[in-house]
Amino acid sequence: MAAQRVAVLGATGSIGGSALDVVARHPDRLRASVLAAGSRVDALLALCRIHRPDHAVIADPAGYAALAAGLRDAGLPTRAHAGDEALCALAGGEDCDTVVAAIVGAAGLASTLAAARAGKRLLLANKESLVMAGALLMAEAARGGARILPIDSEHNALFQCLPGGRVADGVRRLVLTASGGPFRGRRREQMAAITPEQAIAHPKWSMGPKISVDSATLMNKGLEVIEAHHLFGLGNERIGVVVHPQSLVHALVEYVDGSTLAQLGLPDMRTALALGFAWPERIASGVAPLDLVEHGRLDFEPPDLEAFACLRLARQALEAGGTAPAALNAANEVAVSAFLQGRIGFLGIPAIVESTLATLPATDAGSLEAVREVDAQARRHATLALSRHAAA
Ligand code: NAD
Ligand code: MG
Repeated sequence: MAAQRVAVLGATGSIGGSALDVVARHPDRLRASVLAAGSRVDALLALCRIHRPDHAVIADPAGYAALAAGLRDAGLPTRAHAGDEALCALAGGEDCDTVVAAIVGAAGLASTLAAARAGKRLLLANKESLVMAGALLMAEAARGGARILPIDSEHNALFQCLPGGRVADGVRRLVLTASGGPFRGRRREQMAAITPEQAIAHPKWSMGPKISVDSATLMNKGLEVIEAHHLFGLGNERIGVVVHPQSLVHALVEYVDGSTLAQLGLPDMRTALALGFAWPERIASGVAPLDLVEHGRLDFEPPDLEAFACLRLARQALEAGGTAPAALNAANEVAVSAFLQGRIGFLGIPAIVESTLATLPATDAGSLEAVREVDAQARRHATLALSRHAAA
């Protein structure tokens, strides 16, 4: 059997690095054929020297000359490309069988859709594309014959606890676990002075800065409820969230007969990625087995929706439907970026998201144009709202 040719979009990120680690463990069955990154040419070149892909793409066109020169100087056969169009053409093109969609944020939507349309095995980490345009993305995947393997620990766990990875009769409820992030147990008023350094220091997972802040506000869990809705087809009321600080149980499926199935493992995304590459088979991921005796205990508690308004706002957007989740996502991206730059305080994030949702009515999300338009409107509104929440 020829090796699966893998495109890693977001190769220089946290998920990208974990994906390439798994790929390198299985040279007989996996080969990185396309590597793509946003703007860090040096980091992309370093990966090209190790993995020798057929193609390398830098999304920022300003990086093209340096990428091309770097590949030439290293004597690599890798072809250089730049820009979003090249990225989408390669994601949906003939030179890969599998796409790891691991770009962060709305920037990942177009290439994820291209991979879905082209019927790739799609290892989907870019949850924002499902939040923005879940119905469109699932429809494109069905039409194109793409198999979506969820690369979010909770959704990967649900996939593993559902026969064939799908919800059928007999499923009562899905339950996502949340670590609670670094500020679990704090009241709202105790969170005003939180700094970006404190927010990105996640207690259990090592991740990129945006998702780390999302985990600290619990927006990440809210995005994941919407993600689960699209992946598994259940409504808001049938997707529960429970806080589990040890991050060893990743999700649970409740069945009508009283059975609850859970998936457990150490908090390391290589488990989900290995499953995505090999499913329905299993391959080694480099993750150590879970020793429950060593860990000793598993705790569970309800999320505090007063203190962590973002989870409540995401559920509200899911209930509103249409373009509301796209507006939520865009406002959150603007607010998180401003928080990371020290321009607004931690509590400015839910405030900006709430004000954006209140301003933009949910409309039909049936076309990509409609989604893009709402994304742009929400970014404009959130940007204007920033000044009202400027950090003291
Ligand atoms: P990261 O910040 O570590 O990496 C992001 C990657 O995206 C980088 O390679 C960057 O070059 C690329 N990128 C950024 N902007 C781009 C653009 N405009 N065009 C092309 N590429 C661009 O982020 P991450 O933690 O690896 O997360 C990636 C995605 O996976 C996110 O959607 C996140 O929610 C999801 N996810 C991550 C984890 C995790 O453990 N890190 C877990 C579950 C889901
Ligand atoms: Mg997750």
